[in-house]
Amino acid sequence: MRKQIAAANWKMNCTYQQAEKLLDEVLQSEVNLSYGSEVIFAVPFPYLIMANSEVADEPNYSVAAQNCHQKKSGAYTGEVSAEMLRSIAISYCIVGHSERREYFQETNQALAEKINVCLEHDISPIFCCGEPLTVREAAKQNTYVETQMIESLFHLSETQLKKIIIAYEPIWAIGTGKTASTQQAQEMHAFIRSILAKQYSAEIADEIPILYGGSMKASNAPELLASPDVDGGLVGGASLIAKEFIEIMKALK
Ligand code: PEP
Repeated sequence: MRKQIAAANWKMNCTYQQAEKLLDEVLQSEVNLSYGSEVIFAVPFPYLIMANSEVADEPNYSVAAQNCHQKKSGAYTGEVSAEMLRSIAISYCIVGHSERREYFQETNQALAEKINVCLEHDISPIFCCGEPLTVREAAKQNTYVETQMIESLFHLSETQLKKIIIAYEPIWAIGTGKTASTQQAQEMHAFIRSILAKQYSAEIADEIPILYGGSMKASNAPELLASPDVDGGLVGGASLIAKEFIEIMKALK
């Protein structure tokens, strides 16, 4: 079975003290994760080292950065490189979250470079894709997501692609309280898997975890996560409430 993943995206939330408390609450719950499941905390940059040391003795828990710069190093004031992340033992990085695409004008081409620089430093990208509401209303979501994947992922070799986690996050469902229906999520996940199979192979498509993101919470997680092609969740708002996130972890297949 594919790896099942509950990934918390804390975004720009929590003070250091709140972050420590939230992590402790989730870790102390000692959820009995099913075999092959993983929990990932995507925390703000200043908390990466602390979070990594908190999960150091927990084999199924990891820490992710929420972004990195596409260049290896240089005069990019305020930015963080993949090499820096690797030097503090970070093994995952979110790439292409819709908030970064929208507020920081990250293009599919720039995201392809971020994916490359992550892989060069042995960091697995959690690649976000997903359509805005206008595209969904025009029933063009498949073409839209396929283009995101072609332009940011399909230059990768098979070996490189195997290191990627995909998160399908319909923009209209992020932080809005509006969740994609189980059917909408399953249909898009199956579509994403089908284009991976077409470009690479059915075996590879079958190995790649595809997470759903968009107002996932304790109450809707069991149904969404039961869908055959939904391999976990990328969770924003609900990951800031320990009780909610713990229930989502429990709902992993
Ligand atoms: C996200 O930002 O990745 C996300 C899915 O947010 P939320 O769960 O709050 O919709």
